[in-house]
This record gives sequence, C-alpha cells and structure tokens, in this order.
Amino acid sequence: MTKKVCPFCEIDLGKTEVIEESELCFVALSNPRLIVGHLLVIPKRHVERPWELSAKEAAALYEVVIRYQKKIVDLGIATGCDVRQNYRPFIPQGKIKVDHMYFHLLPREPEDEYFEKVQIGERDLWRDLSQTERQKLKKVFS
Ligand SMILES: [Zn+2]
Repeated sequence: MTKKVCPFCEIDLGKTEVIEESELCFVALSNPRLIVGHLLVIPKRHVERPWELSAKEAAALYEVVIRYQKKIVDLGIATGCDVRQNYRPFIPQGKIKVDHMYFHLLPREPEDEYFEKVQIGERDLWRDLSQTERQKLKKVFS
C-alpha cells in the first residue's frame, strides 16, 4: 500500500508560498488559486474534520482567519472577503482538494468574476423558512 501524502503536512516550498507561520498554523497563498489574493489558513497538525481541532488550535486558527480577513480589506486587496471551510469527505484528495482541513480567504468585490461565474445562480436558491422546516430543524439540532 502506498502512503497517502498530505501536501499540507509535507509542504513543497517550491510550490507553496508560506506568508506567516506560528506554533499551530500557517498562512499560505493558495496554489492553484480561485481569486487573486486567495489565502489558506492551515493548522500544522493533520486534522481532517474541523471538530477534531483542539480548542487552542481552533482559537489560533480563528484569530489568524479574522486578522487576515481584516488585512485583505485594510490593504485594499479587496473591499470584502469570504471565509470558507469545506468538509467534503466524499470528494477524493486531488489538485484542488486536500483532506487536511483549512480555511479559505477569498477577497471579494461586488459582481466579481467569482460572482459572475459561480454565485449568480445562488440568488435562485434562497427560500423563506417554512414553519414546518423551522420546527423540524429546531428539533433536530436541539
Ligand atoms: Zn496533513
């Protein structure tokens, strides 16, 4: 059996530009990237499910995510910034999906390319919450 290589545990510095490193996490330019200025905030320990992070790791990651979100706006990289974390174990690890959990920071502008190509149809998905759905989900999550 071949050992599964994790690109975030064994960083290839020739491919990945790390812009900040601390005891628990690092920030890198996403490569490939979705939007100019797309950053990744990655815990150093290999964790696949976000709920496996220790409280200390979660706090450290969140502090960095928020600080870089502010940097993106303050430095004028963009006027907005999406923060995203995807947990999709059903997608195999590949060029644009790594099993090691991480956050995406996506600099955003109104009606930017991402909006025009990806999110424009999202408007049609919004629905008012029905009373039945509301009660059912409240029960499920309580
Ligand atoms: Zn890893």
